[in-house]
Amino acid sequence: MAWVVLFVLVGRHIRPLLKSELDMRCYDCLQEARSDTTGIGVCSRCGLATCENHARVRQVQVTRQVGMGAASGRIPARRVVCHTCDMAETAN
Ligand SMILES: [Zn+2]
Ligand SMILES: [Zn+2]
Repeated sequence: MAWVVLFVLVGRHIRPLLKSELDMRCYDCLQEARSDTTGIGVCSRCGLATCENHARVRQVQVTRQVGMGAASGRIPARRVVCHTCDMAETAN
């Protein structure tokens, strides 16, 4: 069996994902005193675990340096944010 090392992007820093984070509980669910959900991902903004109900999966364009300019890839990348960070990002 191969070892897989996952990395998580927290703000502008990348750090290895700890094994314990893979079975972390959703923070928003803990706030609502629910414990029946499992985290499906880690918010790319606040770094807290989030579940299927509270996660917002966004498509993001990836830009690459090509010569003197930047080119955006044809295939969008993906990023997970939690419900709270999603509201903070989209609220005016
Ligand atoms: Zn949740
Ligand atoms: Zn968040």
